[in-house]
Amino acid sequence: MTTASFSSLPLSTEFLANLESLGYQTMTPIQAQSLPAILKARDIQAQAKTGSGKTAAFGIGLLHQLDSQSYLTQALVLCPTRELADQVSKEIRRLARPIPNTKILSLYGGTPMGPQLASLQHHPHIVVGTPGRILKHLQKGSLKLDRLKMLVLDEADRMLDMGFHEDIMRIIDMTPDQRQTLLFSATYPDEIKRISKAIQNDPLDVFAESLHDDKIIKQAFYEIQKGERSQTLIALLQHYYPQSSVVFCNRKQQCQELANELTQKGFHALALHGDLEQTERDQVLVQFSNKSCSILIATDVAARGLDIKDLHAVINFELSPDPEIYIHRIGRTGRAGNEGLALSMFTASEARKVNAIEDYQKTPTRLEELSSLNMQENFKLIAPMVTLCIHAGRKDKVRAGDILGALTANSKLPGKQIGKIDIFDRLAYVAVERSVVKQALKILSEGKIKGRKFRARKL
Ligand code: ADP
Ligand code: MG
Repeated sequence: MTTASFSSLPLSTEFLANLESLGYQTMTPIQAQSLPAILKARDIQAQAKTGSGKTAAFGIGLLHQLDSQSYLTQALVLCPTRELADQVSKEIRRLARPIPNTKILSLYGGTPMGPQLASLQHHPHIVVGTPGRILKHLQKGSLKLDRLKMLVLDEADRMLDMGFHEDIMRIIDMTPDQRQTLLFSATYPDEIKRISKAIQNDPLDVFAESLHDDKIIKQAFYEIQKGERSQTLIALLQHYYPQSSVVFCNRKQQCQELANELTQKGFHALALHGDLEQTERDQVLVQFSNKSCSILIATDVAARGLDIKDLHAVINFELSPDPEIYIHRIGRTGRAGNEGLALSMFTASEARKVNAIEDYQKTPTRLEELSSLNMQENFKLIAPMVTLCIHAGRKDKVRAGDILGALTANSKLPGKQIGKIDIFDRLAYVAVERSVVKQALKILSEGKIKGRKFRARKL
């Protein structure tokens, strides 16, 4: 474990102070291994698990060489999905606070071109987006990359899985040859090696250890009979009562069925899978992150890359045949010094999956008896908050403070009963404590926000 300090890097005092205000004291292993070289303009090819701090690694790198006086697009970050593009641009904005007038624009599909074309007229310094939409802008001539200094491929393996190979290559054809190229990937298949060879110049290989320390994550395996999966899941939830957990399934159809079953039984569970519309996905993630839902049931693809924090437990409803996927899944718990739980169930015919995990981790797995589970039968994991959806968003110039103000004005509701507020283009979500839902909904639907009336409903 490295404990390198950011101050060992050639960064300005303002920049270092900002990192400290973000709570970044020491570099994560991937940052410590890659940043010195990134700041020397070297190409990097890095393999690291979700949650290892890749965004700051390339974010600090691209901000370091940015000339904010020059109104040209100097850095491009390609991401597989809109959510990741949003997450990355938010993180870069936070990192860029000490550099005045930095323009960061995210561009992705599924939203109208008009507003994007308007934003592009202001010459963003940094563009973060999905390959399809970026290529569309390049072809239209609304985006120019001929002065690009840095190109980042984030979650490169996932972009390839999603069929973006050709788009990526066409985008790169429109960038200068002497750019710096950083490639980040969770796995390292041959296809990634080939792409790296084609687009990078003598890259430094970085590998951030992806095995987890059993002191931080408690891993336990339960052998079950066929047909016992959902009852075992409920037993695990009632024994461990995790305040937040992600349950992994291998197929998306199963996610939805399981979410329905748990909901019927009184648990607050939501499914996250590839068949959801974008708004539905947003709503699932909002409710999970603001504590209106304690159980997220997801496929690997749907959960990849998302920065879901403070997970109490990761539960493998089904193990993947690939031990590396197991490592990625359980890496989402036990972060930031908190102990995490990784619970897995398997049938006799899946024993080879457990053996593969054992071989991969080079430690014996801990088998536990189902009979050791001490269930609290009536415990349903009721989430503490409820989400209200307001039909007003960023485009209506509504900000979090306006919603908080509407709810707390004239001491209608105490601020401490109001949780996270998320603002999207046309919708906003506010979490309130379960006990004040009716009151809050009444205030929002009868009152005004910024002098205007908006529709509000409970999700
Ligand atoms: P990745 O892209 O590797 O999945 P992220 O860049 O999303 O990971 O980072 C995961 C979390 O760690 C984020 O919440 C981020 O704010 C936090 N983080 C990143 N670097 C540091 C650091 N040096 N110290 C503390 N937290 C960090
Ligand atoms: Mg990331």
